[in-house]
Amino acid sequence: MRIALIAHDGKKADMVGLAREFRDFLAGCTLCATGTTGGRLQAEVGLEVERLLSGPLGGDLQIGARLAVGQVDAVIFLRDPMTPQPHEPDINALVRACDVHDIPCATNVSSARLLLEHWSRRS
Ligand code: PGA
Repeated sequence: MRIALIAHDGKKADMVGLAREFRDFLAGCTLCATGTTGGRLQAEVGLEVERLLSGPLGGDLQIGARLAVGQVDAVIFLRDPMTPQPHEPDINALVRACDVHDIPCATNVSSARLLLEHWSRRS
């Protein structure tokens, strides 16, 4: 399973908590993440993660490009709905790419947990 992980600043602690909760399952996946999110997952959870560019510098677009060519199976994208983001067009492009290619995309902790519970039971 190839999973891309992104968390806006206000959601990074939630992402770390989620990754700790599902560490064993995630450790068996191929992970990529936007730069800062990936760095925290490496440092605080000990996961092996390919770090792409930071979201505002094009990381979301890199993930979108990968999933468009079939290289990503799922996206966990903890968005912060309360904070305006400078790269809003990139965020919309990534979510749209998930819908175009029918890739599961969890945008909050509860939906991410549902997906991770489902996949971890299957593995
Ligand atoms: P980051 O990017 O993981 O590099 O912070 C995510 C974002 O804020 O879009």
